[in-house]
Amino acid sequence: MTPPAVPVRAVLLDVDGTLVSAGRAIPGAVSALSRLRDRGIQIRLLTNIDSRTPETVCRELATAGIEVPVEAVFTPVVAALRFLEQHPAERCHLLLSAELAARFAAHDAGPGRADYVLVGDCREVGGYAQLDAAFRRLMDGARLLALQRGRWWQAADGPSLDTGAFVALLEHASGQTARGFGKPSADFFEMALADLGCVAAEVLVVGDDPETDAAGARTVGAPCVLVRTGKFGSRAGLAGKGHPGVERHPGVAGVIDSIADLPALLESGLGTLGM
Ligand SMILES: [Mg+2]
Repeated sequence: MTPPAVPVRAVLLDVDGTLVSAGRAIPGAVSALSRLRDRGIQIRLLTNIDSRTPETVCRELATAGIEVPVEAVFTPVVAALRFLEQHPAERCHLLLSAELAARFAAHDAGPGRADYVLVGDCREVGGYAQLDAAFRRLMDGARLLALQRGRWWQAADGPSLDTGAFVALLEHASGQTARGFGKPSADFFEMALADLGCVAAEVLVVGDDPETDAAGARTVGAPCVLVRTGKFGSRAGLAGKGHPGVERHPGVAGVIDSIADLPALLESGLGTLGM
């Protein structure tokens, strides 16, 4: 890959698997963020967390020792709320965690007619009856909205079903294709770029997931560096250093062991990756 022609002004950082793992800061994450700030590099946390509000994410990060303002936390919740604020008369059937259902209460259709079915983290979904109720809303004409479409995520005790698996279920049954708000949607990345006042060539996307972080970076033409912590490092068949399949994944400019190596990478002008 050709090195960026302009200096990196901002970093779009994934959270789970990149900054934190199982609620704890990944070793070196706090000092890496501090070094980026010292270099005047803006930071946005671009995460697909769809079970909690950005304020909760912010508090959890602070508990892990990572202090960021809530405005720096970009999640599909932020994107979906902006979308719904532009459609104030429309109402949603909510398939969300209790915390997010409360956050989206102003847009809740309740027992009335739903314009949308909004699907997020389904760990608190009761099962067949709740999925079937959402399906019936779709068959009544509601459109399917997905906070994100991740297929699986790396829980502390192993890989777990992610929101996208439930979105696919509802898509298959209804014949609809959902509108997705989180990574890898180009809209989501462009919203973050607009917020930073940067163009894609001025930012570096850093994450642990080729399917969300790297694929999303590619949709806007931003370079992406993967870390070996989190999902990427743990995934069977992709764990080996220098695995050619991932090194060659579209949109991946390079791979570093962890976020701790990011400041040195930026200070080297990305040259250590041979990009
Ligand atoms: Mg991640």
